[in-house]
Amino acid sequence: MNSQSEILENLINNISKLPGIGKKSARRIAYHLINTSKDNALNTANSIIEARERLGLCIECFNLSEDKLCNICSDPLRNRDIILVIENFHDLYLFEKLKIHKGLYHVLGGLLSPLDGIGPGTLRLNELLNRIRMNNTSELIIGLNHSVEGDSTALYISNMLKDISIKITRLASGIPVGGEIEYTDEITLKQAFENRK
Ligand SMILES: [Zn+2]
Repeated sequence: MNSQSEILENLINNISKLPGIGKKSARRIAYHLINTSKDNALNTANSIIEARERLGLCIECFNLSEDKLCNICSDPLRNRDIILVIENFHDLYLFEKLKIHKGLYHVLGGLLSPLDGIGPGTLRLNELLNRIRMNNTSELIIGLNHSVEGDSTALYISNMLKDISIKITRLASGIPVGGEIEYTDEITLKQAFENRK
């Protein structure tokens, strides 16, 4: 019989499924959750439940949102003529933190990667096309990583929009080749945005 509690092992197992957390860290976090005050531990658990139950996706841009439209899409001060297309929520967070983009976003939900089974149908590309058609968007900024997947997704988007009159720009390659936006420092990301072509 295992000398450890099954409840504890279960907790460690679940924590170790989180990204970037190995078994060792999971064990440390589990001990912390048990040693901390009951209120602290329950607050953590309740935040997870609340986030899962109350956060959904914005029907326009697929940002995380408590309402049908996210804070950005429902903000009358945002420039509705410009859409910045990005891979995920985290990239949106980085651009918002820099306060450089005054337009709207479109969260693709990934990058094309046929080897991993991610084709155009998996991403929110049709939704992007429909949005641009409906709103007569004047500029689409492609804010995707300069990687093989980022490049092929950018190319796919350009081809998809070739019959539509829209200015398409891409963040300058100040972002290191193969580098991810997530790991680019703020000054470089700002320059890449300002020098988009
Ligand atoms: Zn939105």
